[in-house]
Parts: sequence; C-alpha cells; structure tokens
Amino acid sequence: MMHLMTNPIAASSRRAIVIGSSMAGLLATRVLLDHFAEVVLIERDDVSLPLQSRSGVPQSPHAHVLLTQGQRLLEQLFPGLAAELTDAGAPTVEWTADWLMMGRWKWMPRCASDLSGRACSRTLLEGLIRQRLLASPNLKLFTGCQVEGLLSSPESDQVTGVKLHWRKAANSIESLDAALVVDATGRNSTLPNWLASMGYDAPPETVINAFLGYASRWYQRPKNLEADWQGITISAVEGITSRGGVLYPIEGDRWIVTLGGVGRDYPPTDEAGFLEFARSLRVPLLYDLLKDAQPLSPIYSYRRTENCWRHYERLQRLPDGIVAIGDAVCVFNPVYGQGMTTAALGAITLDRCLKQSQLPKGFPLRFHKQLAQILKTPWLMATGEDSRWSTTVGAKPGRSDRWVQKYLDRVTVLMQDNPVLLKTFAEVVHMVKPPTVLFAPNIVLQVLASYGKRLPTEIKVTEIGRQTSTGATVQR
Ligand SMILES: Cc1cc2nc3c(=O)[nH]c(=O)nc-3n(C[C@H](O)[C@H](O)[C@H](O)COP(=O)(O)OP(=O)(O)OC[C@H]3O[C@@H](n4cnc5c(N)ncnc54)[C@H](O)[C@@H]3O)c2cc1C
Repeated sequence: MMHLMTNPIAASSRRAIVIGSSMAGLLATRVLLDHFAEVVLIERDDVSLPLQSRSGVPQSPHAHVLLTQGQRLLEQLFPGLAAELTDAGAPTVEWTADWLMMGRWKWMPRCASDLSGRACSRTLLEGLIRQRLLASPNLKLFTGCQVEGLLSSPESDQVTGVKLHWRKAANSIESLDAALVVDATGRNSTLPNWLASMGYDAPPETVINAFLGYASRWYQRPKNLEADWQGITISAVEGITSRGGVLYPIEGDRWIVTLGGVGRDYPPTDEAGFLEFARSLRVPLLYDLLKDAQPLSPIYSYRRTENCWRHYERLQRLPDGIVAIGDAVCVFNPVYGQGMTTAALGAITLDRCLKQSQLPKGFPLRFHKQLAQILKTPWLMATGEDSRWSTTVGAKPGRSDRWVQKYLDRVTVLMQDNPVLLKTFAEVVHMVKPPTVLFAPNIVLQVLASYGKRLPTEIKVTEIGRQTSTGATVQR
C-alpha cells in the first residue's frame, strides 16, 4: 500500500475512529492510517464476508459508475486496484469509445480518449478496498457494531470517542476513546442530533430534489451477442422525456440495467412494467436487448435521490475531535455518478488537512471549510442540471443559470457532430477538468456561430433505428 507521505507527528499512540465502512469510510480510513497509530473502523452491518450486498448500502445493486477521476484517485490510494478489478473480471471501458450514448437528438460520435476505467459492481469495488485495508496491522474492523452516540469532554468542547453497541450482544453499550472521530454513516447520518445533544447547532441544509426514481435488474450478457460497444446510456432530457436508462457491464459477463424517471415518473418494479418502461425510452434499444436476456435478480427500486448538502462549514462552532465525510455531508442525485469520486476527494482533503496540522484547536471547522471548496463544483453540476425540470423542488435558477443551461444545450447539440468537443465535455463529466473549460474562447465562438443555424428539434425514429443497428462510428 502506498503511503501518502507520513506525518512525523503521527507517530503518536493516538487512535482515530471511522463510523461506517462504505466507500467514504473506507477511503477516510486509508488516509487516517498514515496519521494515527491505530484506526478503528466501525460498521453496523456484518461485513465479514467481503463480497455480499448488505442492508446498510441499499444503493449497491444499482449501476455505480466510477468516474475516471475517481478511478485515478483510487489507484493513487490503492496502487494496483485497477489490475485487481480486472483480475476479478471487471471490464475495462474507454468511456468515449466503448459506450453508446444517446445525445439530445442522436447517438453521440465515438472517439478514443484517455477517459477509461473499470466497470464493476459496487459490491466488488467496496469488497476489494476493504480487503486491502484489512492487510494493515494498525486497522481494527468492528463489524456488526453500531455507534449509538458520541463521548465528549465535560465542557462539551471536544468529542473524545463513541458509544457503541455490538448487535449480537443484548443491550450492552461500550465506550471507545479516540483523538478523532470521522462520521461516514451516509445520508442518514445522525451527527446533527448528536451535536445538538452537546449543545451545538445543526448544520443548515440545502435540499434540491428532482424526484428521480431508479429500478434496476441484473442480467447475464447473452453469449451470442455481437456488439462493438460495452454499455449504453439513453438519458432523460428536459422538454423531451423524463425517462432514461443505462446498461452497465460488470464482472462475470453480467449487465446491470438501471431505468430512471425524473419528476416522480418512477419505473415499475414488476417484470412487465419494467420492460415496458424500457420500451418507452427515446430508443427501444434496451428493451430489444432485455426482452430475451436472462435476468439474474429481482428488480430493485430506489427513490431517495435528492441532493442534500449539510453545511458544516457555515457553523460558527463545532467541537474538536469530530468531522463528517462522504454522503453524511453532501449527497448528490446519483444519476451524475459523482458520489464515490467526491468521497475520494474528501478523503484526500482530510489527508491534506492532517498534514497541514495534526488536530490543533478548530480542526473540524478548518477541514469542513476546505471540503466545501471541493464540493462546490459537483454540487453545481448536479443541481444545475436538476434545476432544469419544473418538477424539481428546492432549486431557484436565476437568469444567469438559465443562460448557462441554454449555452450548455448548444454545446451538447454541437458535440453530436464534434468528437473533440465531446471529449472535452466528457472530461468535465468525469471530473477530470473543471466546467470552466467549456467556456474556453474556441468553444464560445462555436456556440456563438451556431446561433445563426437552426438546431434540430426532433429526430425520426427510423434515423435512430439505423444508427442503432449499424452502431455508431468509432473514430480513432
Ligand atoms: C441509487 C444510487 C446510485 C448511485 N450511483 C452512483 C454512481 O454511479 N457513481 C458514484 O460514484 N456514486 C453513486 N452513488 C453514490 C454512492 O453510493 C455514495 O456516494 C458512496 O457510496 C459514498 O457513500 P458513503 O460511504 O458516504 O455512505 P453509505 O454508502 O450510505 O454508507 C454508510 C455506511 O455507514 C454504515 N452505518 C450507518 N450508520 C451507522 C452506525 N450508527 N454505526 C455503524 N455503521 C453505520 C452503513 O451500514 C454503511 O455501511 C449512488 C447512490 C445511489 C443512492
């Protein structure tokens, strides 16, 4: 395991506790191992079997895209992880070349790029990372153990550990001390209540809800299928359809097919309804592929998809010894695939803050202010898109937001015939480049020039059919 530059002060005998052994907790654990003599990772679920799905992560059966930036960060934290994923059967995907992507009006061009990654189930990714961490002698994993609250100093100015409960032991509450506690318990985090019981304000929350619902099913990839693509995305487009779907390849020659509907247009979870929803997308390609494919799972549903940011960075005061990370701080509409990558960015921010200064007074607020800087871009990307829908609650797009949306509409139409622009756009989506690159002078000029031309307003089904049957052209 690579060490991210060890801080000499960290050679103390201090302990850190991480609550929650999902992606954010695992990645935080990875960096804390470089700063603390002991890290205790506490997970409510039984995670002793590495590759099983579990109730604490109800989102895991749904398609989980690890963006290219996330892939790169995980490789930095766990060198060789990509190769391990390949060994476990995860296909390598070059996102702009291997993917059929239905644009606003037609299939996107396909082109080579360095935007690549491994496509795999969420369970495999999490399981491999946990196994890696368990090789570390200074990690203790408490599995089947629930944190019930925080321990604090008599003045309530310092969190000094946690109260925990072993789920198999009746009613026994134990205490465990730590110099730093990291809350990685996801969107249902009860940290605001725990802080309130110590006399602190709850963080203000911003919630923007597009009321997207998912339904997903796993399939065996048909053995006789000949295709020059690995996956498919047919997205919902405001003003055209609230329905979208993705076919996502994973280890074991399987597909996860996730259907989604915005504005409470939820996909059904019965077999006939699921297939009918797939048929109703802008192109019936998923339906054509699924109707004869072998299902491997029930149909899973998920509807808690609102963006929610708990603004710890805005609080006037926080006790020392406690920070939150991952979905416990900021959760995004999952359709943009940002959660795991942002969790990795959060862990790297924690590492950077600990290197700057090992837990001085005021560390939690300092960390949360730096984390907020990281969260701004993915938050604007997700909520800016969600605010297009009149059914979205909580968003108040102003005139400049509308202008940006119209500008980006032009960009997305132009990139349908422009692989270079498509690549730039994909780099932004994969969080490799900031959205500002889409406002570079050469792109602005292309957009301005397009104002003289009429953009397409509809696409004929036959045109889609032809493009589907031949597959899109790969330009290398
Ligand atoms: C439907 C859906 C699809 C998604 N798709 C993508 C995608 O394509 N790409 C992407 O990057 N992200 C995606 N995400 C987001 C991604 O799943 C999360 O952002 C990511 O897993 C980080 O979550 P987390 O670790 O912060 O929290 P969680 O994954 O929610 O984990 C919280 C953990 O804490 C444990 N826990 C909770 N309370 C306690 C307690 N009191 N004591 C001990 N343990 C506790 C839970 O058991 C769980 O293990 C998706 C999310 C959803 C809902």
